Amino acid sequence: MARIVMKFGGTSVADLDRIRNVAQRVKREVDAGNQVAVVVSAMSGVTNQLVKYCTDLSPLHDAREYDAVVATGEQVTSGLLAIELQRLGTDARSWQGWQIPIQTDDAFGKARIDGIDGSALLASLNAGQVAVVAGFQGVAPGNRVATLGRGGSDTSAVALAAALKAERCDIYTDVDGVYTTDPRIVPKARKLAKISYEEMLELASVGAKVLQTRSVELAMNERVRVQVLSSFQDIPGGDIPGTMVVDEDEIVEKQNVSGVAYSRDDAKMTVRHIKDRPGIAATIFGALAAANVNVDMIVQNLGADGTTDMTFTVGKADLPRAHEALGAIQSDIGYTDLLEDPDVAKISVVGVGMRSHAGIANTMFRALADKGINIQVISTSEIKVSVLIAAEYTELAVRALHTAYGLDAA
Ligand code: ASP
Ligand code: MG
Repeated sequence: MARIVMKFGGTSVADLDRIRNVAQRVKREVDAGNQVAVVVSAMSGVTNQLVKYCTDLSPLHDAREYDAVVATGEQVTSGLLAIELQRLGTDARSWQGWQIPIQTDDAFGKARIDGIDGSALLASLNAGQVAVVAGFQGVAPGNRVATLGRGGSDTSAVALAAALKAERCDIYTDVDGVYTTDPRIVPKARKLAKISYEEMLELASVGAKVLQTRSVELAMNERVRVQVLSSFQDIPGGDIPGTMVVDEDEIVEKQNVSGVAYSRDDAKMTVRHIKDRPGIAATIFGALAAANVNVDMIVQNLGADGTTDMTFTVGKADLPRAHEALGAIQSDIGYTDLLEDPDVAKISVVGVGMRSHAGIANTMFRALADKGINIQVISTSEIKVSVLIAAEYTELAVRALHTAYGLDAA
């Protein structure tokens, strides 16, 4: 007997037929003798609609009321799944965040989980009942409902698995695992049997949108074994194994590069001819931080005539705010031009093997050069190399890199 957390995303509970399918999967685990806590998302499209209601009424709506609205999607699915489980003869009960409780901070709309009291849930599991938990939500100080940011049900599931000391946390979705790259771009992409937390974290943060980044962080810190698998595929008597996200030590064959990811969510900005003196970077990035704009890649060129250029990337959606923030400090730092280019893509290669192997980055540069693709900005971490290129070359670059690192399936 094992205690497991099963999480079902929006497409997996998209309609009543999908909810029936989910109930069968849960029942199968229960019948096998396992204790099961289920975490559900809202039916697909529902959260978007709820968000739209809020913004249509008022773009500057109160975040507490936004949370009161958007948390309802998960409440519906938790109740529906409990009803269907009961209909199948499997004892089940729905739980909202406040009923457990899942305690959060007061950053409404993107709250963080402060703690989970698992005792009531454990009592119910020990009594043989399936707990169907509404994902994405918790309760903030002052007893107000708070949500965890888009995609937050993944984080609910991992946090619950940690609090319940579950053997593993199965995240069911519409893909059957984590691939070496996007199979829609590279048909020869391979499903990975295992990937380390750190690699998954880098991939999640550079555009491979399988898991919410924060959920991977949490899994890494709490050492929760996470499996990504499909709720749309079956083999008789069980699930097709997906990808296990685990500690690096569990991975015997370490690849130099495990995956190639891309993101078109960034825009490039260049501040031209700024003075080459102390305090300029602090002024630029201070102004952006004050405007709540996240900056990712940064390069500063060598100054020649006492001035220099600074190039960096920001989220595309933040471009207008970044423009405004930098406009306001033009007289302070005295730049001549502000260039903006939203037509860029960030391509990243990720692998723990980079720690111990030289030449990984150069393979990337060579492969891109061979395709005539110009690199605009480069950044690296211990296990990742990212380059910024013109967006039109995204597919070409991803394919070339997938081949260059020997990742293509035979
Ligand atoms: N329903 C929420 C969203 O769409 C949370 C989730 O599905 O993870 O963002
Ligand atoms: Mg999701």
